[in-house]
Amino acid sequence: MSKSETHHFQAEIQQLLNIVIHSLYTDKEIFVRELVSNSADACEKLRFTQSSGQPVYQSEVAPGITVTTDDKADTITITDTGLGMTHGELVENLGTIAHSGTKAFLKQIAEEKKPDVGLIGQFGVGFYSAFMVAKKVTVLSRAFAPDETGWQWTSEGMGGYELAPAADLPRGTKITLELKDDAKDFAKESTIERIIHRYSSFVPFPIELNGKRLNTVQAIWARSKNEIKEDEYNEFYTFVGHDHDQPLFRLHFSADAPLAIQALLFVPQRNFETLGMGRIDSEVNLYCRKILIQAKAKGLFPEWLRFLKGVVDSEDLPLNISRETMQDTTLMQKLNKVLTSRFLKFLEEQSEKEADAYGKFYHEYQRFLKEGVVTDFTHKEALGKLLRFESSSLDKGKLTSLADYVQRMSGGQKEIYCLLAANRESAEASPYFEVFRERKFEVLFLYDAWDEFVMEHLHTFDGKPLKLAEKAELNLSAKKENALSEEASKSLAHWLKETLGDKVNEVRASQRLVESPAVVVDADKFMTANMRHIMKAMKQDGPELPAARHDLEINPAHPIMARLDAMRQKDAALAGSVAEQILDNARVAAGLLEDPRAMLTRLNQLLEKVLTKD
Ligand code: ADP
Repeated sequence: MSKSETHHFQAEIQQLLNIVIHSLYTDKEIFVRELVSNSADACEKLRFTQSSGQPVYQSEVAPGITVTTDDKADTITITDTGLGMTHGELVENLGTIAHSGTKAFLKQIAEEKKPDVGLIGQFGVGFYSAFMVAKKVTVLSRAFAPDETGWQWTSEGMGGYELAPAADLPRGTKITLELKDDAKDFAKESTIERIIHRYSSFVPFPIELNGKRLNTVQAIWARSKNEIKEDEYNEFYTFVGHDHDQPLFRLHFSADAPLAIQALLFVPQRNFETLGMGRIDSEVNLYCRKILIQAKAKGLFPEWLRFLKGVVDSEDLPLNISRETMQDTTLMQKLNKVLTSRFLKFLEEQSEKEADAYGKFYHEYQRFLKEGVVTDFTHKEALGKLLRFESSSLDKGKLTSLADYVQRMSGGQKEIYCLLAANRESAEASPYFEVFRERKFEVLFLYDAWDEFVMEHLHTFDGKPLKLAEKAELNLSAKKENALSEEASKSLAHWLKETLGDKVNEVRASQRLVESPAVVVDADKFMTANMRHIMKAMKQDGPELPAARHDLEINPAHPIMARLDAMRQKDAALAGSVAEQILDNARVAAGLLEDPRAMLTRLNQLLEKVLTKD
């Protein structure tokens, strides 16, 4: 038997170890993930070796991983029954640097002189991460070939390592870490259990910690859909979603181009943001070949999809340089685009195939889709297809898509009309709705204060401009009987402007009113009453909003107008009061009257007059 040999580390390894040992690395726990991943790789390689028919020592021993902690001796041991390492491999793998990523890392540090400890995380330091927590590392390994023997590799992380023969080893590798004083927490079972649970739950080989099996949930996303039972999906969702309800939607898909992706995504039954839990974070974890790269991966989906839960696994992630932080943003953007488009396509399919479930989804999550329309130019169009609104052509409570609205548009109609209102009743009673009802143009009823922003951002749908009813330039199809003549209406309008003074910008006869005597419209087409309310609510110390300027449009066919016209000759004072009241009534209809007290005083005076008339 050969005796113990002393080896020096390659200069670069020493450099790397110095950084690992002396830097205040915050996430020391990743050493567990690195060592468990190495063991899993060794198990995978063994499986491959076996399947290729090569003779394997102790071939009856299945590949697996065992972790033991000892909080008396302050050690943690990670053992695998993988393919092990020969003498040559121990020298090669645990004493030199083969990976370009690690080399690049070292080069960067050399150039920057001052090592940025945060960078270590970007380049998985693999096996050497053990030295963050261990004062001494012992590796016992026996390679798979029947004629091999075992070896013991030991190092204290400085200078080099010892290699000595070790007799009677089982196949595989056993790594024991004697923990530093400040790392003794890692000898605790509960600590290690938490770490393995976090990073290595889906390692495809059994992991036992102190005799207890840890990873019982499979990485089902990597299996083919038709092999997976409903129960398995639900169990998986409970596991990744921390939610005991069943998901509302599930999307399981894989793609090869432009990126290799396997994804299993869930939409929870309930929108946790409206449950008073504040802003939620996406709970989609990013994996590379079943090893966690990033929990709740930032940037994987756009913000407005933050309600999603699940996993995305991509083999295209640069595993060799990073298991910790996905820093390659172009790759992340690519992933984001592919995943988002796929999910939107899925939602569109569901809206057709599973209308009820989609309805529920829409009810819970419409605000997120609308946020997307407003903030995400790339997916605006696809999002537009997913929006749903009540409409004047459908019963209360029924929703339509913009596409279906366009289908129903009559020949002469060129725009999609939308009316902002508090609810169905006030939409139908709105003076702005009258012309549409009369001309039989369908109007979408928008009850969400933010819908105005949404429609403004969406701008068009299927080439048709989206138009707010109050800004639409439409006239009634036919002139009404008993209406004031054009001349009389002009003169009345002129008198009204004189009487009302600065309270209105302009007064004119309207061609779009049927039942209402008058309506106010924004003179600048600058801001609707709804938008004004939102801006007011949001405004804190910003500049004052420009004062609203409104035009008053009067209905020449309304009996009030005819009588007012007569009254202004007989009793100018009373006519003046009525004119003011007409303006205030129109403001009320538009949701613009802020202080109704002055109006009430006037209204009482008018009532008094009416009642004292003989
Ligand atoms: P990486 O895991 O990124 O390849 P490491 O520094 O973690 O880098 O490991 C270097 C090499 O050592 C591995 O590629 C592998 O060949 C070998 N190795 C490490 N751990 C084991 C193990 N448990 N069983 C067999 N080989 C191992």
